Amino acid sequence: MTIQLKAHAPKTEGAKAFLKREVQPVWIGGEWQVLPESFESHDPATGELLTRLSRAGQAEADYAVDAAARALASPEWAQMLPATRQALLWKIADLIETHADELAELESLDQGKTYATARFGELNGAISQFRYYAGYATKLGGQTITPSIGYAPEGKQVMAYTRREPVGVVAAIVPWNSPLLMAAMKLAPALCAGCTVILKPAEETSLTAVRLCELIEEAGVPAGVVNLLTGFGHEVGEALGTHSGVAKVAFTGSTEIGRHLLGSAQGNLKKLTLELGGKSPAIVMDDADLSLAVPGVARGIFANSGQVCVASSRVYVHRNIYDAFAEKFAAAAGNFRLGHGLDPESDLGPLVNPKHAARVAGIVEGGRADGAELLAGGVLDEEHPAFYSPTVLSHVRPDMTLMREEIFGPVTTLTPFDHADEVIAMANDTEYGLAASVWTESLSSAHRLSAAVHAGTVWVNCHSYFSPELPKGGMKASGWGVENGALGLDNYLENKTVCMVI
Ligand code: NAD
Ligand code: MN
Repeated sequence: MTIQLKAHAPKTEGAKAFLKREVQPVWIGGEWQVLPESFESHDPATGELLTRLSRAGQAEADYAVDAAARALASPEWAQMLPATRQALLWKIADLIETHADELAELESLDQGKTYATARFGELNGAISQFRYYAGYATKLGGQTITPSIGYAPEGKQVMAYTRREPVGVVAAIVPWNSPLLMAAMKLAPALCAGCTVILKPAEETSLTAVRLCELIEEAGVPAGVVNLLTGFGHEVGEALGTHSGVAKVAFTGSTEIGRHLLGSAQGNLKKLTLELGGKSPAIVMDDADLSLAVPGVARGIFANSGQVCVASSRVYVHRNIYDAFAEKFAAAAGNFRLGHGLDPESDLGPLVNPKHAARVAGIVEGGRADGAELLAGGVLDEEHPAFYSPTVLSHVRPDMTLMREEIFGPVTTLTPFDHADEVIAMANDTEYGLAASVWTESLSSAHRLSAAVHAGTVWVNCHSYFSPELPKGGMKASGWGVENGALGLDNYLENKTVCMVI
């Protein structure tokens, strides 16, 4: 396979100007500064150097935590009126919208994803995050409570109320698959709650975080309320994870680093939300509408080249329809056009880098050597080694790496089943519990299977649908806590009970 790469230059003036800068700055306490040490960012499709990013470490983490702590206590932020905070969040959304084309171009160039995925999926998602939590800023309140236990002296009364206060300085650590959206999913609720934030994007994909923070500054967020540190996970990420001035880490990434962060958080007992990996099943019943299920499950695994935490990486199909499904599904996998993310003809871009693509290819080859059968794909591009074709495998046993590990690439397995009980056991035979989908026209199967699968989100007749209203989190090794919705906001707030004798 050799991909023909065409048209990959950005069109917007904003993206062009951004890429002209030699080294991108970090943002600490309202000051932009280029650090003496930097690292490279590449276009994964071509390998071309895009720009350089400042490489922050322990010292910058210390400055940023200090700046964020001062901003947290500043009257300008702490006493900002709810309606002003609401307007500020809305302004950020407006600015992202105004710059959405430019941000989508940068995301596509940096991460590899198609422009359409970035612009119409993720940018719109990020804008909705800020608008959704803008609405909440004026609706945060506690309760008044009358306790049952009396208090001496006789005749006095006890009354109490609760306050909801920001948890404090938040380190928002995000992965490389959907960088801007993941950043928005943390910044919007954190700012709504009155927290201050240090954003640490993934070293593979930090470009849009820089632009986003410039827009946040333009919106008028007070100095130090949001800070940006680019750099490596084991350096600045580690410094933030272990920092005693950080009250909460909002992390999205691998289960491995999520586990590691539990240790990092011990010192000051940080609050943690962990949005981790998955191995999400799609269950196709024999009464499913295949005109929905085939393209829906295919998009569920192949969108963003499989680099989606909830990707449908295990597909279980009722034996009555297995052969028909397998044929259509393999054909659908073969129909995706691979190319540069900025080429409008491309359905899928490259993986995030050649190293990751080689890992994905290695897992597939290992599985084939172990007896798995290839129904589609399985090809690493010779000339452009970050491209890997959409891959479907059958005859994958439950103990194989293909079935157990999160691959985070365009690779899925097809397995037949005979009974609902059997498929529930298969779907739950994993350390993960992030998401699942059920494809059926039966109301009864839809409800029964949704209840029986251990997953933070279950979709019926769709996969990978997100909206800021819908709480999203993982069971089992897929994480702690949820993002989005009212439940997601709770993670950025502490409760304080005020109790008085009157
Ligand atoms: P990763 O865990 O390697 O890195 C995530 C972030 O953590 C990066 O910013 C990285 O620099 C940082 N990091 C690395 N080491 C650190 C350390 N010692 N201390 C603090 N921070 C550190 O994940 P990735 O490879 O960037 O992303 C892919 C993973 O993310 C997949 O496992 C995927 O499932 C997961 N993910 C989960 C969700 C979800 O909502 N559950 C969403 C998207 C991605
Ligand atoms: Mn990059």
